[in-house]
Amino acid sequence: MPGQSTLNTLMEEVRSLADEKGFGSGPERIWEMLALIHTEVSEATDAYKKGQSLEKVGEELTDAVIRILHLMSALGLDADVLYRRVMDRNWQRPVRYNTVRGG
Ligand SMILES: [Mg+2]
Repeated sequence: MPGQSTLNTLMEEVRSLADEKGFGSGPERIWEMLALIHTEVSEATDAYKKGQSLEKVGEELTDAVIRILHLMSALGLDADVLYRRVMDRNWQRPVRYNTVRGG
């Protein structure tokens, strides 16, 4: 829809920022980019554990989203198509699918 932010438009913004700020997006960085997604999730976990504000936790989660979008751009993926495909598949699954213990 016009004027709406899609994952792909957000991804393009993230890529533009990465390019402008000198962060590479080449294939040599894929492993590093995967690892850096983990660091942001860990930062969110640590912030939550330490009782920091939920806004701070949210900022770290946003860092993770940004890093995921950067990686998806580096891989040449269509984030909107993939999101729709995966969510449609998830909607078709039964309640608590693939969960025997936990979750
Ligand atoms: Mg962070």
